[in-house]
Amino acid sequence: MRYSVAMAGEVEAAMRDHLIREDGQEDVLAATYVLSTGVERRTALIRSVILPNEGDRHVHGNASFTSGYVLRASNEARAAGHGLVLLHSHPASRGWQFLSDMDWDTESEYERVARAITKMPLLGMTLGGRDTSWSARFWFDRKVPTWAESVRSVSPKLSVTWNDELRRIPVNTRSQQRTVSSWGERSQASIARLRVLVVGGGSVGLDIAQRLAATGLTTVGVMDYDAVEAVNLDRMIGATRLDAALGRSKVDVAARLMRSSATAESFEIRRHETSITDPVGVSAALDYDVIFSCVDRPWPRAVLNALAYTDLIPVIDGGIALDTFADGRMRNGIWRAHTLVPGRPCMACIGQLVVGEIQLDKQGLLDDPVYIAGTGRELPSRQNVAALSASVSAALLAQFVSLTAHPGGRGVPAPLRHVLSTHTLEHSPATTGLYCAYEKATASGDTRTTVAEHRDDWRTVVHERAIRKRPFPLRVLSALEDILQRAISRIL
Ligand SMILES: [Zn+2]
Repeated sequence: MRYSVAMAGEVEAAMRDHLIREDGQEDVLAATYVLSTGVERRTALIRSVILPNEGDRHVHGNASFTSGYVLRASNEARAAGHGLVLLHSHPASRGWQFLSDMDWDTESEYERVARAITKMPLLGMTLGGRDTSWSARFWFDRKVPTWAESVRSVSPKLSVTWNDELRRIPVNTRSQQRTVSSWGERSQASIARLRVLVVGGGSVGLDIAQRLAATGLTTVGVMDYDAVEAVNLDRMIGATRLDAALGRSKVDVAARLMRSSATAESFEIRRHETSITDPVGVSAALDYDVIFSCVDRPWPRAVLNALAYTDLIPVIDGGIALDTFADGRMRNGIWRAHTLVPGRPCMACIGQLVVGEIQLDKQGLLDDPVYIAGTGRELPSRQNVAALSASVSAALLAQFVSLTAHPGGRGVPAPLRHVLSTHTLEHSPATTGLYCAYEKATASGDTRTTVAEHRDDWRTVVHERAIRKRPFPLRVLSALEDILQRAISRIL
């Protein structure tokens, strides 16, 4: 298991405001957390800040907690079903902070109190005042803490403090010079370490995956259970006729293309032949730092819309709709891009997810012409052209750059809408709805309610593809292609 911490930007600001004092002294603070559990990573999501009352702490150069404060905070955490966080600041320090002997003694002493009362491990956190860097460790016993790998602050700007010992700074390679000169070594060192998941390996997802690999990211995952078909070849740039003839899975095609465009010294490809609408897919997604939503169905998009808030994983979403006149000529095209993070409205609030359609999608009714005709709806438009799908991936990647490199000191913008006929770019005025259940569930982690459910349909698709016998000539071609790929990556 790996460990990390995430917090919404608002919560981080409240903690920072308290811990960084005008008089330059250290300070202490208590907070609560819930867990978000993936397959390989467990993340503590900071829930609420418990400010000290008069006499709850001593500030005298080295600040300290009173046991009264720790007890009060532990009881508040238990009442809410949360765990306890004890924080302190190192005003003159920068970067990931390790523990002084005194910090160690304090946290290991309160570990037992926290665990006895909350039944959860104590989380210790330090703020380095010089560059507002956070660090964190879990106390599973009182002897040795287990260090987190990163602490993420999630708002329209994603800011990550990395524990360099657990996730090393990747070496910049010669082929990354232009990238590094665009946003500097510091940004590159952070961006390259993000684990990014692309959900949907179609035209947009495939393009994004390759560009992330070329940017120098060290871990990229792709999630899709479908295979390449001949009908996809006009849009999936890089997929070949052989891929379609073999019925190769989209994640295998993405993996091959990412491998040939990756610039990182060591590049980890993660293939998920699964569905985000299944709990298996959700658990896999919880291991990532940023997710691209490249799916157009209401059900998978509803799952991702929820995860962005409940588990504080920014989801970059968008899509395209092309519109024709009755005689088939083109009327217009609209593509959108938006990032789902605390501080920006969710898909439902900006009208990009119709909650009533989630159930219809689950029941397969959106594909059923009889049902569609009976309701007087129109079949969802299926048009897309290669010339425009690049605009969608470009719009989503630009959101990624704003989220992670903060050009001009800014993060992601309000939801964007590009209108093709007039070539205008509109910023949506939509804000969070008063009763938005998605955004209300921010940082609920493992207590989330999800619309994901165990299903056999995608499992059948994956299984049948695995056992299907391909004609002999195709198998030979596939083997030759594989040998060539391996030879290239070994020799060059
Ligand atoms: Zn909302």
